[in-house]
Amino acid sequence: MFRRVLPFFLLCVASPLHAEPGQSAVTGAVTPGDLRPHIAYLASDALQGRAPDSEGGRMAAHYIATEWNAAGLQPGAEDGGWYQPVAMVTRKPLLGSIRFNSLDGKPIAIPERSLLLSGREPSDELRGVRLVFTGYGIAPGAPLPELKGRLALMLAHHADGDKRNLAERAAVLAAAGAAGVILIFDAGDPVSRLREPWFHPSSELAAADAQRPVFYGGIGDDAARRLFAASGDTLVEARLRAEDNRAIIEPLAITADLSTRSEIEHLDSNNIVGKLPGADPAAGAVLFLAHWDHLGLCRPAGAPDRICNGAVDNASGVAVLIEVAKRLAKTPPLDRDIYFLATTGEEIGLLGAKAFAERPPVPLDKIVAAFNLDTVAVGPAGAPVAIIGRGRTPIAGDVAKVAASIGRGVDADDDANAYIRRQDGWMLLDKGVPTVMANGAFSDGARLEAFISGAYHTPGDELTDDTDLSGAAEDADLHVALGRYFGDEGRYPGR
Ligand SMILES: [Zn+2]
Repeated sequence: MFRRVLPFFLLCVASPLHAEPGQSAVTGAVTPGDLRPHIAYLASDALQGRAPDSEGGRMAAHYIATEWNAAGLQPGAEDGGWYQPVAMVTRKPLLGSIRFNSLDGKPIAIPERSLLLSGREPSDELRGVRLVFTGYGIAPGAPLPELKGRLALMLAHHADGDKRNLAERAAVLAAAGAAGVILIFDAGDPVSRLREPWFHPSSELAAADAQRPVFYGGIGDDAARRLFAASGDTLVEARLRAEDNRAIIEPLAITADLSTRSEIEHLDSNNIVGKLPGADPAAGAVLFLAHWDHLGLCRPAGAPDRICNGAVDNASGVAVLIEVAKRLAKTPPLDRDIYFLATTGEEIGLLGAKAFAERPPVPLDKIVAAFNLDTVAVGPAGAPVAIIGRGRTPIAGDVAKVAASIGRGVDADDDANAYIRRQDGWMLLDKGVPTVMANGAFSDGARLEAFISGAYHTPGDELTDDTDLSGAAEDADLHVALGRYFGDEGRYPGR
């Protein structure tokens, strides 16, 4: 999916930030030697791969807050501290069975391969619950019907103009009292294909997880047709009625017995938030972010190396975040507030970034530009800057201008946008915050591909003497320049 990019030789190596004689080292260009100690600590075996809610994760969070404090940042979380709590839940469905019966107790045979079910609690059981067809689910803003003691059947297919995802639509049925929600998949989505991923662990913010129905599952189109037939109806007609009536609530002459077992883990973790107050906070804010978490112990006990150290992914991005903070703190205050955010839960679904976007310490519409840093130490200096998010945000042109001002070229194509939903910046961009991920690592598709099919997400993502941090150092300089540009109301008036 990526094209190979020819090495780009810089015409201008010295950046305007280059240290002058007599200047403090911390105001000069970022060097690989500045980044290395941070990565060495964060990716050391002592931190055990920085899993959220682990001792190593807490050590990483403490390190970042300590570095930012020493750099002169102020705590930036809502409560005036460094930490923004992020409660998460990881669930692995182990077992889920549904048996359907007619009202006189006769079983309706549905093959197990056409059914999926998982439970909110570690184990749960419910007998004789009545099925009710709810069409596309309750329309946005419509009053809640009474669904207490009912098992809602909902079409997985989206109604026109309904932007909510399946979980959001199911949560509304649960709020109306439904004991469970069973999706009716389209004919083109055989349950057999969904079965394998269904039983993988998945994570969500605790607040959103608490809204899910106690029982949540799905049935294939074939199974749904059988159920409607057993109730003296047809699925085809039911689908048509649902199109005509978005408030459809129709009991079926069917009951169900449900039983589930799940492995559930509650994770209490933290984002770290720091702030450099601007001279004119009314002018808005700039945000830099990088995820501190990684996969923790990623191999079974007894394996020669169990620790996914996450040196490149993403101790490198955090190291850059620390050095950028140091340099921006050493200049006279910019107009805008500059926020620094180290997120948790990225590896399990961008959850720390999601929590920040839901409870931002500064209103999202005050953020004029946000920059994510992930997996920056992939190659040497000299690569053009890929701007992930280009084409979807108004700041990309100005980012290119800033890159050019320090002698960096910009990636000619937008191949790197393939990663747009796989990085924390997505959670902000999706809510309308002008956000990009700008670095040299993602412009060289061949090199990035080699990392992703190699050490990425394995115990091999470690810092060694051969790890080339020159590209990351150059990207750090770029972000210092971006901070000075977007933090200055005169140079960037805002959106
Ligand atoms: Zn990762």
